[in-house]
Amino acid sequence: MRQAVLRKPQTFFLDREAPIPIPSNHEALIKVQQAGICGSDVHAYFGKHPFIHCPIVLGHEFVGIVEQCGDGTEELLGQRVTVLPSLACGRCPQCREGRYNICQTLKVIGCQAPGAFAEYVLVPKDRIFTLPHALDWDLGTLVEPLAVAVHAVRRAANIGGKNTLVLGCGTIGLMTTYVLAAYGAGTITAVDYEAARRTLAESMGANKTLSPDQPLQKPIHTAFECVGIAQTTNQAIACIEKGGEIVILGVFEEDVSVNMGLVQDKELSMLGTLMYTDSDYAEAIRLLDANPGAVRQLITHRYDLDQIDDAFQFLASRPSEAIKVIIRP
Ligand SMILES: [Zn+2]
Ligand SMILES: [Zn+2]
Repeated sequence: MRQAVLRKPQTFFLDREAPIPIPSNHEALIKVQQAGICGSDVHAYFGKHPFIHCPIVLGHEFVGIVEQCGDGTEELLGQRVTVLPSLACGRCPQCREGRYNICQTLKVIGCQAPGAFAEYVLVPKDRIFTLPHALDWDLGTLVEPLAVAVHAVRRAANIGGKNTLVLGCGTIGLMTTYVLAAYGAGTITAVDYEAARRTLAESMGANKTLSPDQPLQKPIHTAFECVGIAQTTNQAIACIEKGGEIVILGVFEEDVSVNMGLVQDKELSMLGTLMYTDSDYAEAIRLLDANPGAVRQLITHRYDLDQIDDAFQFLASRPSEAIKVIIRP
């Protein structure tokens, strides 16, 4: 089979003769239809991801068809599916509480195990989610980033009727906007430098969009930081009302200095959030099945597997045009 191996930063090797993997008893073999490029894949491509190391086959947002189950069962064969890519241990204290996303020895398909920028990928059978009829391949590919937003919004105490702020309108910020609208948040304000992304945020359900230099209308109760830098974190700390919450989705490339004095004085809650659980994945599928809204518009570009270097270079260099870029093996 063909697979794209990231051998070292900015260097994919298209291996055309990799053996098709053989599923063990608890695994299934998926024939990959398509896979999205995630922000974390871009970090890894440039050698800047702390937990993804070369050589690796990236790709954790994918859809495909079940081709074979290691235990010989047939009920999943031929099904259109997406896969929750976490490989949790199931035994540590966090796993035993059902918080598989923060398993002490968490590995992720496409991050620490071979991923879906390949013709076939092996997955644990119990991580498979069958796609309902209404979810075509594109919507199915967007379940994974949507589940990140579902988990983040569920981390906040109670969003109903509350004014919310989304800082950063990349895929995750846009998905967060969509979930906030679906859950009946009050005014949703989305902030981004790029006008094209602000327009997308409006179609995803933002009531107001601003560029970072424009003044915010208060009060705001809950902020979602979807960039991973000091500036947006401090903006959230400064603008939310006393007793409010900040949910941190951004991936920080470096340590930052933030105004902890205000966190203390305003009795703010700061909540980290990582990936998702099974129930977040099921909820993401349910939301898309009920009303996909403008979610499909997040897919802006498509590349074949043998153009994967071009896809990554394009995504990194054109943030105003590229939101979700799809690779087709
Ligand atoms: Zn991702
Ligand atoms: Zn665990």
